[in-house]
Amino acid sequence: CGIVAYVGHRDACPLVIKGLKRLEYRGYDSAGIALMNDSGLAVYKKKGKVSALEQELAGKAVQSHIGMGHTRWATHGEPNDVNAHPHYSFHRKLAIIHNGIIENYAAIKQRLLDKGHTFASQTDTEVLGQFIEDIWENAGGTLEEAVRLALQEVVGAYAIVVMNEAEPTQLIAARKGSPLVIGVGEDEYFLASDATPIVEYTKEVIYLNDYEIAVIKDGNLRVVTLDNTITTPYVQRVELELEA
Ligand code: GLU
Repeated sequence: CGIVAYVGHRDACPLVIKGLKRLEYRGYDSAGIALMNDSGLAVYKKKGKVSALEQELAGKAVQSHIGMGHTRWATHGEPNDVNAHPHYSFHRKLAIIHNGIIENYAAIKQRLLDKGHTFASQTDTEVLGQFIEDIWENAGGTLEEAVRLALQEVVGAYAIVVMNEAEPTQLIAARKGSPLVIGVGEDEYFLASDATPIVEYTKEVIYLNDYEIAVIKDGNLRVVTLDNTITTPYVQRVELELEA
């Protein structure tokens, strides 16, 4: 399972797909991608290999400078197109990818069902996405705050990335237990489960710590903890050579 996300001046789709292939060794059963441009948020996902996702994308040519991709190793819900990530809600146009397990998803899901939410998939991930959205709508703050408040209630392991249509330069990422690396380029940022999708573009990386949220917006990165303390991320240089 793996995560790759990008925001910057490059064409996001081929970059994310290439990154997902770099992570294939981690194992997975489905793959998906979310891309965003002037025509809005577009999500493509497919059971099977990254190459099946590529076939799905063939001829669609979604030009975009922000995107996120996922390879899924199913834990909640069988491997199929609907359960593949990204999950999204077209209510506030939010998309989420997630590696890990939300252990208390059933209790959160029940609360949301009681409020009238409906779910397309069987995944714990879609529950987290709708939980974030529900807080976002009802608490009236920013998406970043909603992510933070939601994660304060989550039991389990996660690396997540969230994007939304109203903020087309923003990626919000968080982790606990599952790895997440940030690549810092020139006016561009990368997110990935390990450094292999990143190193051909930049050697400057930040290993996000547990209970940290990274907010990339308008070309700036800010890292806060789940209790909203700003932290100074430690940027280090990776020396990792890749085969072409
Ligand atoms: N628990 C999530 C799911 O089953 C994420 C699995 C993963 O780590 O890929 O969809």
